[in-house]
Amino acid sequence: MTEREIPSMCQHRPSCPSADSADRESARLVAHHPEQGWSLLCNGVVLFEDTGELLPDGQVIAPHRPLGAGRVVTAA
Ligand SMILES: [Zn+2]
Repeated sequence: MTEREIPSMCQHRPSCPSADSADRESARLVAHHPEQGWSLLCNGVVLFEDTGELLPDGQVIAPHRPLGAGRVVTAA
């Protein structure tokens, strides 16, 4: 377990899915920065405009945009 600034402040009922849940994207938005292309979910997941995700433990989820025909994302 790493002690980072994981906001355990979910006061929603029912509570939001945790960051390691397959359903994590359905957590409530707590911050939305469309001009920067990302949103912060209640469970600490950062959701990017291209559907990529950054989990609170530092794990990166590659974008999984449904209409993936237009753009190829090259990850290092
Ligand atoms: Zn919540």
